[in-house]
Amino acid sequence: MIQLPNETLTDDTLRALSSYQSEIDNQPDYERQVAEAKRIWPHRKQNQPFREVKAKLAKMCSGAKRCCYCEDSMADEIEHIWPKDFFPERTFVWENYLFACGPCNGPKSNRFAIFTNQTSSFVIIDNKQFSKAPPPPGDSVLIDPRLEDPMDYLWLDIIDSFAFTPISDDPTDAAYHRGEYTIDVLKLNSRDDLVAARRNAYGNFRARLREYANQKANGTAPAGLNQLKNNIHSEHHPTVWREMVRQQKSIPELKAIFEQIPEAKGW
Ligand SMILES: [Zn+2]
Repeated sequence: MIQLPNETLTDDTLRALSSYQSEIDNQPDYERQVAEAKRIWPHRKQNQPFREVKAKLAKMCSGAKRCCYCEDSMADEIEHIWPKDFFPERTFVWENYLFACGPCNGPKSNRFAIFTNQTSSFVIIDNKQFSKAPPPPGDSVLIDPRLEDPMDYLWLDIIDSFAFTPISDDPTDAAYHRGEYTIDVLKLNSRDDLVAARRNAYGNFRARLREYANQKANGTAPAGLNQLKNNIHSEHHPTVWREMVRQQKSIPELKAIFEQIPEAKGW
């Protein structure tokens, strides 16, 4: 997961979202707000303003509209980062959306947790406790790629396992729990196909880098080199690419390529 590029909506679309949101907010209590969010979301998300919402969300995705969580499968669902079933006040809030795939959105669904006051413990938000009363205020445990850089919390092993680990190994540190929780909820390490796809992406990126280095050495014109650079940008699994740049000094085969084409460190 990488931090998503910022996209903004037009005023007309923001006004439309705000109007839909007020239908929920105007309900007299939490239970009825949740019910209203569930009732109107399936219909309103088909409305015209959501053409723009979906187009902007698609622009945030890597490759051919790949999921913002796993970066692998086609993104075809608007995901509420803060689940609307517990946080109805965020149902029509632009900053709460990203495009996700079914295999991510399904298991993640309503799973969410918040830090209330202690950074080393958090409250799991579930149906048993919070079907009639709102969750307490607090900060998200799940890493939010709309707001922050997941690579500040997660490290991807691109030498051997192609699994994520939290960068912090201190259980008293909120960052440790945020990494662990995000890996678990999104099943970033437990889907074998996904891990294999990251390994494959590493090979693809390395091949593209070598191709660029060869063509540059052979005097290919800037337009041709630029095309090769753009091909790297349009691949999915951008996290693998970012980790290759981040870790290149400690991986001899990458260090050698990046020494040949140092400009690639800035891509
Ligand atoms: Zn996904």
